[in-house]
Amino acid sequence: MAFSIPRTLFEPEHEQFRDALRRFVVTEVLPHRERHEKQGFIDRDIWLKGGAAGFLCPTMPEEFGGAGADRRYSVVVFEETARLGAVSLLGWSLHSDIVAPYLLRYGSEELKRAYLPRMATGELIGAIAMTEPGAGSDLQGIRATAVRDGDHYVLNGAKTFITNGWHCDLVVVAAKTDASRGASGTSLFVVDTTMPGFTKGRRLEKVGLKAQDTGELFFDGVRVPAGHRLGEEGRGFAYLMQELPWERLQIALTAVALAEAALDGTLDYCRDRKAFGKSILEFQNTRFTLAEAKTELQVARVFVDRCVELVLAGTLDAATASMAKYWCTDLQCKVIDACLQLHGGNGYMWEYPIARAWADARASRIYGGSNEIMKELISRSL
Ligand SMILES: Cc1cc2nc3c(=O)[nH]c(=O)nc-3n(C[C@H](O)[C@H](O)[C@H](O)COP(=O)(O)OP(=O)(O)OC[C@H]3O[C@@H](n4cnc5c(N)ncnc54)[C@H](O)[C@@H]3O)c2cc1C
Repeated sequence: MAFSIPRTLFEPEHEQFRDALRRFVVTEVLPHRERHEKQGFIDRDIWLKGGAAGFLCPTMPEEFGGAGADRRYSVVVFEETARLGAVSLLGWSLHSDIVAPYLLRYGSEELKRAYLPRMATGELIGAIAMTEPGAGSDLQGIRATAVRDGDHYVLNGAKTFITNGWHCDLVVVAAKTDASRGASGTSLFVVDTTMPGFTKGRRLEKVGLKAQDTGELFFDGVRVPAGHRLGEEGRGFAYLMQELPWERLQIALTAVALAEAALDGTLDYCRDRKAFGKSILEFQNTRFTLAEAKTELQVARVFVDRCVELVLAGTLDAATASMAKYWCTDLQCKVIDACLQLHGGNGYMWEYPIARAWADARASRIYGGSNEIMKELISRSL
């Protein structure tokens, strides 16, 4: 979809990266989509091929296996995988732009050297485990505990809804190091899935995002070396809060790109589909629906691009990122629902991209902090 306000974010090198990524997704990922959806995860070799081509951890410093690139390269990955409908690669973004940065920022030198280069090649897959069966929005209420025992912490607890939970080799886990305290009793640990006492549970069957593995994790007396703690004990919650603006903007950027793709596909569909002897694009209702969607997506595009500029300047605040996350994911669902309606019965059939987009979109208002929690955070800035 051509928008009237030109984007000013990218340089020619970002566009070259975009072209290479598009070719990769079209040849290596999309041909396997149905099989991936049926099996519930993408093939492991897609991670390795993506790593070899430089699409994983692009912003990591070169000494840790990345390209030391700026975050606009990550934006290209979110946008282009979304535009092509390769939502099965959402786990890439979580791995590269959420998990790896925690290690880079708060991990010891030893931890960084042990994990980051192999995360960049795709040999190791990362996940982050905060949510528990009894605590999602209320993260201060998590029950997982990590009790110090000499040079180790003994980790017990259960986590659920974990993206990459089935494929993962390492997990950043939030656990209470002082159960008597709320936020200041929480710490973060890098837990290796080879550590005894760590087990993976079911791969969860979801409404959408069928090829994106989402699972349960269990920790039963896992002895985690103290050197695997990220940063200081008791500072885990503060670290999570610091990273959230960028993480939430990632969801907003993906949401806008997915909605733009849905609008493009719907425009083509409406041109071709005939009713009452004419293209359904000729009905005023169709044109007005698409005009409204285009307008709102243009507004969203300008807003999120400006937020990216603030991220690059290091000044995106939590309330603005929460606005982007809640407003863009609400818009994504609204636009995609309207687009599905314009497809009639075909829109409800899984073989049509709009049906998948509709089912995939619903989770975005829930994960990364629900949209109600976003409004709660914004209201604190009033
Ligand atoms: C596809 C998918 C992938 C996910 N990936 C991960 C992952 O990789 N790692 C991870 O840790 N988690 C992950 N999650 C979990 C996700 O972050 C949580 O589901 C989310 O934070 C909501 O928590 P909850 O499910 O416990 O809902 P609850 O907290 O039980 O909320 C239920 C309802 O109550 C509302 N609510 C709760 N508190 C308030 C309040 N104070 N004010 C107003 N309304 C409120 C919520 O908005 C929601 O509508 C994922 C979830 C999904 C669906």
